[in-house]
Amino acid sequence: MGGNGASIDFAGTAPGVRGLDGVRWIHGSESAKHNTDPDIQVHAYDEHTVILRQNMAVNYEAPFLFLLFGNERAVLIDTGATASAEYFPLRGTVDGLIDAWLERHPRDGYELLVLHTHAHGDHVAGDGQFADRPGTRLVGADKGTAWAFFGFDEDADAVVRVDLGGRVLECLATPGHHEAAVTFFDPWSGFLLTGDTVYPGRLYIQDWAAFTRSIGRLVEFCEGRTVSHVLGCHIEMSSEPGLDYPIRWTHQPHEVPLQLTVDHLREIRAALDEIGEAPRRRVFPLFILSPDT
Ligand SMILES: [Zn+2]
Repeated sequence: MGGNGASIDFAGTAPGVRGLDGVRWIHGSESAKHNTDPDIQVHAYDEHTVILRQNMAVNYEAPFLFLLFGNERAVLIDTGATASAEYFPLRGTVDGLIDAWLERHPRDGYELLVLHTHAHGDHVAGDGQFADRPGTRLVGADKGTAWAFFGFDEDADAVVRVDLGGRVLECLATPGHHEAAVTFFDPWSGFLLTGDTVYPGRLYIQDWAAFTRSIGRLVEFCEGRTVSHVLGCHIEMSSEPGLDYPIRWTHQPHEVPLQLTVDHLREIRAALDEIGEAPRRRVFPLFILSPDT
């Protein structure tokens, strides 16, 4: 095959058959000190789609990160909650995954793009590990930098395409939890990556009006698309409906699955319609609307 392997057809039928049912995420332990899980869990959803979870013993936020491979570049979405490569070897893990993928799909000049769901510390802390990585473009998560990259500074209502080489993500500005929040849709996997805007946990809403608008846009966006899973970046809910694990908890043996559905987005939209303009807390089985005031 030489330096360049066959082009992968990402316009083909989405795999979507495996799903995420039965995936067991690392979820901390009674004693963080004696935790024996890997620092970063690696789950290959398919040959070109990887979900990572940071160990709860390294940082209680235990965020999820996503690595998606296209023909010309991979994108890493978020860099986790810990800066130290010693405690949180994200760079080494990502390099290893890319090297292994390139062995199976050889091509020259392969790039890495680093983007973010938003600029909160538990999503950008590992940025520094990629600062000196060759062939890498790291886009800062702050609103000025990220929105200029996507073009949301010109048009916040745009649906912007980011091309990984045949695999084209659709990106939307979805402020509300955070002013610079971005949601990513990957037609190949069907993933809608919602960051901390929507996930099974406490949905902290900083700007209620913006959040309401963003959820409405997401529901509309999903109407014409095949979404396999709505995936946020944390799990905070337990298997007891409406009961969340307390903040800073580092052992969540009965946490719910990560994946939500478009119906959950509709449920949130209906609740926001009903609540109206005055922010109010509302508990659902799988998430909690939490005005962040
Ligand atoms: Zn977060």
